[in-house]
Amino acid sequence: MIIQDEYITFTIGRQKKIALIAHDSKKQELVEWVQDNIDILKSHFLCGTGTTARLIAEQTTLPVKAYNSGPLGGDQQIGSRIVEGAVDFVVFFWDPLEAQPHDPDVKALLRIAVVYDIPIANNRATADFLLTSTYMSSEYERRVVNYNKTIQDRIEQLK
Ligand code: PGA
Repeated sequence: MIIQDEYITFTIGRQKKIALIAHDSKKQELVEWVQDNIDILKSHFLCGTGTTARLIAEQTTLPVKAYNSGPLGGDQQIGSRIVEGAVDFVVFFWDPLEAQPHDPDVKALLRIAVVYDIPIANNRATADFLLTSTYMSSEYERRVVNYNKTIQDRIEQLK
């Protein structure tokens, strides 16, 4: 971890900590994508929201750590893992044609992925581009706003 003034740099290791999430109408597409890319994905750590993780684990035999189902807080759990550094890569096939009961959670996860400079694919084409990136087999330095400095600056202002 390198602390600059304005931002902090975190390393995404060679072995990525990948979260897999798909809304119901996109689950089969994600399972197929994982099957098509199993040779790459088997050397990374996989986790996902409850139903998605179970489906992928059953249909590909890859180990996938399961969090709660999305509507029961699974997206929020994955967001919190991003904050903690336990997830550093996301493939999230969300449904653009159907309203979700947990829409605020979905939005929160997308937001936190951007805040933490996490690679995030929301459709198959982006997932394919990400997976064929040379960064898949090397380290990558992601940059996060240095909020410690922001907090310190605000405390100075508010005194
Ligand atoms: P699920 O959750 O994998 O449990 O279906 C995904 C989501 O709806 O965000």
